[in-house]
Amino acid sequence: MTKLNLLLTPGPTPIPPEILQVMARPIIHHRTHEYRAIFREVSEGLKEVFRTQNEVYTFTSSGTGAMEASVVNFVAPGESVLVLDGGKFGERFADIARAYGLDCDSLKVPYGESFDAAEVKKKLSAKKYKAVYATLLETSTGVVNDIEAIGKAVADSGALFAVDAISGLLADRLETDAWKVDLAISGSQKGLMLPPGLAFLAVSAKAKAAVKPGIGRFYFDSKLYEKALKDEDSPFTPAITIVLGLKKALEMIRAKGLEAVWRENERLAEMTREAVRAMGLEMFAKKPSNGVTAVKVPAGIDGSKLLKVLQDEYGVVMAGGQGEMKGKIFRVAHMGHITQDDLAQGFNCLEELLQKMGYSFTRGAGLKAFQAGARA
Ligand SMILES: *Cc1c(COP(=O)(O)O)cnc(C)c1O
Repeated sequence: MTKLNLLLTPGPTPIPPEILQVMARPIIHHRTHEYRAIFREVSEGLKEVFRTQNEVYTFTSSGTGAMEASVVNFVAPGESVLVLDGGKFGERFADIARAYGLDCDSLKVPYGESFDAAEVKKKLSAKKYKAVYATLLETSTGVVNDIEAIGKAVADSGALFAVDAISGLLADRLETDAWKVDLAISGSQKGLMLPPGLAFLAVSAKAKAAVKPGIGRFYFDSKLYEKALKDEDSPFTPAITIVLGLKKALEMIRAKGLEAVWRENERLAEMTREAVRAMGLEMFAKKPSNGVTAVKVPAGIDGSKLLKVLQDEYGVVMAGGQGEMKGKIFRVAHMGHITQDDLAQGFNCLEELLQKMGYSFTRGAGLKAFQAGARA
């Protein structure tokens, strides 16, 4: 078998050739009419994918920069925030909040489980919080959370609602305005099919009214981005090349239609889950996302070795477990530009390798179930 070059990871994801081509153009200057027109267009286009009427700020940073921005601008030191922590990325919100001296409570669920809005409501009635931080797709566990139901509970409490949709945007449905999300966060290198380097923050009127000085911020000061956006501008040199790619990505998404993008992700996710079951493997997430599938490493198989050999010998990159899940799960992404063919090739290699490593199952069953799903 020839060695592939296949990224089946939840960020970075493969970049379509049309986007690579646009980004190969000579650089343009950002204080020009040409760039401003492009930036205006992408800032409007981002509203469509976030399903919001609110402004979306673009930062030159990885996604975590927008997570930090959602903390440092909207709460003051000493104020109380609640973090819904169901994995590595929930934990990151808590780390950011504590780094800035906030009174941070974590509501936890075991890895692999999702949050129950009733539990969140109970927590919110017991103590007054300024903001609640949640994750749409908890990438470390493959779980999707019910942001709509949680959003209702948070709105009733009066707190701001921030949602990390860095991996979830475009994979799992997100209705920023309708679900009362005040701060919606994403990044370029997942569903948007771009290289890493841009982060996004959609900001509601309620969140804007809550902006206060005091916590300490400079690069991520939302007022600078708000002011610059009025002139189709960025306060600092933007990642111009990726913004050009973003223009193309948004055109491609608009041509396909957001609903169709969601449906396609759902279809690939269902096919992936069918393949996993047919191989006798077990799903890790109780409420699985349409962006990434987390699978338990079967007993007797060395999970780290599995992924290493899959990458070194087959050229197929899947993600391992993070933190306490290291070696116990592996994760297959089906977001962005990852196609049905990519996944079929990935499963074919995975089956061959699992068989070589001594896992007992019907060779070919996974791929067959995957392809049966494609016909349905
Ligand atoms: C990828 C990811 C992040 C981190 O983004 P960076 O771009 O690495 O900073 C945060 N949250 C979630 C849910 C993610 O999937």
